[in-house]
Amino acid sequence: MPFRMPTNSTSYWLRQALPSFSSTFDKNHSDVAVIGGGLTGLLAAYYTALHGKQVTLIEADRLGEGTTGNTTAKISAQHGMMYHKLMSTKGADTAKRYFDAQQQAVADFQLLVERHAIDCEFEKQEATLFAQTNQGAELLQEEAEAYRQLHIPGTYAEEGDWPVPVKAALSMPDQAQFHPVKFLAFLISRLMDLGVTICENTRVTDVNGENPVSLSLESNRTITADKVVMATHVPFKDSLGFYFARLHPERSYTIAVETDKSLHQHMMLGIDGSKLSLREATIDGKRHVLVGGQGHKTGTKDAAEAYEALAEQAFYQLGSDKASYRWSAQDLTSLDGIPYIGRITKNHPDIYVATGYKKWGMTNSFVAARIITDAINEKTHPYEDLFDPARSHITKEAGAKLIKETTSDAKEFVHSNLPGKRENPVELQPDEGKLMRAADGNVAAYRDEKGLLYQLDPTCTHMKCGVVWNAAERSWDCPCHGSRFDYRGEVIEGPAVKPLARKD
Ligand SMILES: Cc1cc2nc3c(=O)[nH]c(=O)nc-3n(C[C@H](O)[C@H](O)[C@H](O)COP(=O)(O)OP(=O)(O)OC[C@H]3O[C@@H](n4cnc5c(N)ncnc54)[C@H](O)[C@@H]3O)c2cc1C
Repeated sequence: MPFRMPTNSTSYWLRQALPSFSSTFDKNHSDVAVIGGGLTGLLAAYYTALHGKQVTLIEADRLGEGTTGNTTAKISAQHGMMYHKLMSTKGADTAKRYFDAQQQAVADFQLLVERHAIDCEFEKQEATLFAQTNQGAELLQEEAEAYRQLHIPGTYAEEGDWPVPVKAALSMPDQAQFHPVKFLAFLISRLMDLGVTICENTRVTDVNGENPVSLSLESNRTITADKVVMATHVPFKDSLGFYFARLHPERSYTIAVETDKSLHQHMMLGIDGSKLSLREATIDGKRHVLVGGQGHKTGTKDAAEAYEALAEQAFYQLGSDKASYRWSAQDLTSLDGIPYIGRITKNHPDIYVATGYKKWGMTNSFVAARIITDAINEKTHPYEDLFDPARSHITKEAGAKLIKETTSDAKEFVHSNLPGKRENPVELQPDEGKLMRAADGNVAAYRDEKGLLYQLDPTCTHMKCGVVWNAAERSWDCPCHGSRFDYRGEVIEGPAVKPLARKD
């Protein structure tokens, strides 16, 4: 199959430059400290600052370069096959309220974009689930029936002008897509106008106490805030709510392919077969489709294979032979499929969390910003109970069982990745990374393109699982709870907050 794939992984969205901010700042106390500068953090900072709070936003790396900069950016209330399942597990009332909250977020997005004439390629679209098998079509009919019962607007059809083979499709009108980083650029400029203190390249390593809450920064400085919003994608303070054990991290892949085929203003999501996610984007004046999929638990699959499988689908289903960009990212799913948004635990009324978006973070970030802003302003939000993290409280016993399951499964995977014979890291080729059995124990070794060798302890600093090499992203990924580290050992994603130990 003749398919051209870029050598490096870079999200198309991140080609858009954002302003940069210093890692130092003067303010020692704020009304609100927001930790994390993705869509959740920036929206939470925006709405709390609009409500008159003095806000400080602290980002470990660069604003927007976490999951938000690597998303597919569909703004939709059609969260996969969500509604039939929600009706059967939680009842019709919960399913309907979930839809209403998400559709309200779609409308809020549109309102904000129109009110401020935000240049972010916002386009109205239909969201469409599609089946490529007869069994899939039957499942779609069940989902369509859930829509009917819940009064969710939708159209089920077995005929249609689709760019890929489709047996049946279920479309939801009045959804949208956009350029997420251009949208962040607007938020950042508003935050600056509102006097929000923003700092980058500063990791928060701990939060403690109440009234005020103190935040430990990696620079050994401590600051305080009356309220803290932990918008860090995955909450990093394990003892507050055991979130790492209540979230399933899944990585997936996107390629931006040139194609003549049109999606006719639909953002599509396959529910069977290769479960492709498709949306259009114009890149350098040419029609592209972002083809996404190949999801798997973090650290448990070879990324090169995943990209190859996506390329194959793009070639055979969309007739494309070239990807202009490729990138990957991960998101987290809660125990019941509904995000955790609200107080981090019942006993910590000053610390808020927003996580578990299940790859539907565009609308859920908006929901989170609204719920948390209302809570900080001591107002009741109509959906706060629906997303309350305390609803699926994990018992100590269940937590211990989950921890054991994730760690022993994952350790087995890491073990199966270790070569049987002893090897010498010195023999690595440029741009090669490998988990090795070396003379002084296991080593996570990588030689960069200039020939410099990095040798790390492969023990994840979160809960002592082992990391595995992700060649596509040049990162060390932990299959237990999804922490990721760059080849120098620095944390890319939590729950870990400390780097891998150096062995050289
Ligand atoms: C492949 C893929 C495709 C997706 N497509 C869609 C889609 O089409 N539509 C949709 O709605 N959703 C989609 N999602 C989900 C969506 O992208 C995410 O849910 C959303 O971007 C999460 O935003 P966030 O702000 O919570 O997290 P992030 O964007 O990851 O931001 C968290 C930030 O916190 C920072 N941080 C972490 N720890 C610390 C710390 N200790 N101190 C300071 N800062 C810290 C990080 O550096 C990061 O910048 C997709 C997800 C994936 C993986």
